[in-house]
Amino acid sequence: MEYRPLGSTGLEVSVLGFGAAPLGDVFGRIHPKEGVRAVHCAIDHGINFFDVSPYYGHTLAEARLGKALDGKRDRVILATKCGRYDHDDFDFSARRVTASVEESLRRLGTDYLDLVQAHDIEFADFGQVIHETLPEVHRLQAAGKVRFVGVTAFPCSVLCEVASAAPVDTILSYCRYNLLIRDMDERLTPLAKSRKIGLINASPLLMGVLTEAGPPPWHPAPVSLKLAGAKIVELCRRNGVAAAHVALRFCLDHDYVATTLAGMSTTRQVVENVKSCTFAGEPEMMKQIQKIVEPVANLTWPSGRKANTP
Ligand code: NAD
Repeated sequence: MEYRPLGSTGLEVSVLGFGAAPLGDVFGRIHPKEGVRAVHCAIDHGINFFDVSPYYGHTLAEARLGKALDGKRDRVILATKCGRYDHDDFDFSARRVTASVEESLRRLGTDYLDLVQAHDIEFADFGQVIHETLPEVHRLQAAGKVRFVGVTAFPCSVLCEVASAAPVDTILSYCRYNLLIRDMDERLTPLAKSRKIGLINASPLLMGVLTEAGPPPWHPAPVSLKLAGAKIVELCRRNGVAAAHVALRFCLDHDYVATTLAGMSTTRQVVENVKSCTFAGEPEMMKQIQKIVEPVANLTWPSGRKANTP
């Protein structure tokens, strides 16, 4: 496993990170014991960065991850979030931040969190995030409960705006740098680089679009993007390679992203995704993929308050 610095935090994170959303049954029901084995398998393969949220499965993912990390806490860098609790349930107030962090600490069975991120801030009032949410996480940092502070969102513009106005150690961007969508590099990556903010790229498989199983029913992408994803998966199959390997390899080659977060819940997925770290893509096949991507390149979908997005 290769490790990279997470911005200016001093943390060295594995290039492949463990996304724990699937542990909360977000992509369908999992076998809980297999989920625990997946976490152990990831640690054994050198994955040291784990990302979760109280939102995933209404706290189920945190509870399952906490159980899996029993006795192994010191081997991982643990990131969770605050502010989002359901599809339409957001609370970025200082009071809720403190309560949320205390609850996460309990569920995760630890007395400190390496990273707490304000979750999906495109749904928040930016003024509140800048002047209340993030300062409250910094207060918890001063109290020794949190080591670093970050933000997450889907629109890159939102992350740029808030990260320009408030001090953050990390930015988590999802579905904005993968085989089909690459607009993270337009403004967000240069901003993160210039400020030495740790950049976390999540959802390299475009939340299931770039897998044999395909996207879950709730997936918000336009149909044309999902169809292009299915074509890429089929092309990979015809060439005898796993779409996940190709998709992950593409993300792992980014020159500034510290860790690429793939959602995993089985040992098989962990082993396959670790193989991506040494997988070599075929230039000819990448050209064919590019042809599929061109008509739908950088097609996204709305997320967040209307006032927050252009
Ligand atoms: P992803 O792109 O990693 O895709 C996950 C899906 O792919 C799941 O269905 C999983 O079972 C499947 N999968 C994983 N490896 C596979 C393989 N080798 N072969 C076939 N299928 C495979 O999407 P994600 O889980 O949404 O993103 C990764 C993580 O990033 C999340 O778990 C979460 O921790 C984080 N994330 C954060 C935010 C946010 O903060 N707003 C948003 C999205 C993701």
